Amino acid sequence: DDALLRVSGLRVEYATANGPVPAVAGVDLTLAKGEFLGVVGESGCGKSTMLFGIAQLLNPPASVTAGEVWFKGENLVAMTAKSLNTLRWRDFSVVMQSAMNALNPVHSIGRQFKDAIKAHAKWSDTQVRARSAEVLELVGIDPVHLKSYPHQLSGGMRQRAMIAMALLFTPDLIVMDEPTSALDVVAQRSLMAQIKELQKQLGFAVIFVTHDMSLVSHFSDRLMVMYAGQVVELGRTRSVFDAPAHPYSKGLLDAFPSIRGEKKRLTGIPGAPPNLAKPPSGCRFHPRCPVAMDRCKADVPELYTVGAAQARCLLHEPAPVSVEVES
Ligand code: SF4
Ligand code: MG
Repeated sequence: DDALLRVSGLRVEYATANGPVPAVAGVDLTLAKGEFLGVVGESGCGKSTMLFGIAQLLNPPASVTAGEVWFKGENLVAMTAKSLNTLRWRDFSVVMQSAMNALNPVHSIGRQFKDAIKAHAKWSDTQVRARSAEVLELVGIDPVHLKSYPHQLSGGMRQRAMIAMALLFTPDLIVMDEPTSALDVVAQRSLMAQIKELQKQLGFAVIFVTHDMSLVSHFSDRLMVMYAGQVVELGRTRSVFDAPAHPYSKGLLDAFPSIRGEKKRLTGIPGAPPNLAKPPSGCRFHPRCPVAMDRCKADVPELYTVGAAQARCLLHEPAPVSVEVES
């Protein structure tokens, strides 16, 4: 069994004055060791919330209300905050959208690395310095910057410093929430290439959340497409790109310029994601779906098997098994 992570029935709700709003409505996922999974969808589809639900980083009013997250033999959902803290950084780490928010502005990079290490290991100052310099070099930053403060680094360097920090203990899993989205296109590409190179070299698994499907096209093994709090497609990245099984995935593919710079007309997806407090009946995508059928307003699609992938669309519903009646 080479599964690193098993998520089953994960549900995240936001408590509101009008009752709970499900932001993640039941996600199942198995991640293999060393696998790179891309999670894509428009903002508000629940992708970051799902990631935070997996990493147990949700704060009220959001919380995991159902499901399990098995990681290295433990259900993270059922763990105490104290036990979770021993796993975080050591066995799995998190890289956020903005390092400016995640890093402490009043401490040097070196001091923050040191605090993260000291919380988990009894290393001498010499060991701490050596490892801190080593991870900075891994991401292509001169170790003299251990003395630098976050504001003294460029946006790209700050994100790479965050990735270096995530690598301090060579974890098995790094979850990343849009870590390149604040950067310009050139810096985005180089950071993506660097993440991929590190992953190949060190063998950690990645869950990478982004709203830009083209960004992960070259780097992820599999893609998960989310819409309105649900997985609508899950499959090998290549097959989702070449033959998207869900109309929403197809729309997303047409909504971004290719990272390879191919010219294509960007059409986008008309309309906006639904209010999760009151999702549309039937298929949640039906009000925006260009190929919706009458029955899509009433019938709720499941995740159906489509070749090696899965898609939540009635177009892929298996035909009913016909029963032959003997006369
Ligand atoms: Fe479109 Fe119907 Fe498929 Fe939903 S179930 S994606 S509305 S065709
Ligand atoms: Mg987000």
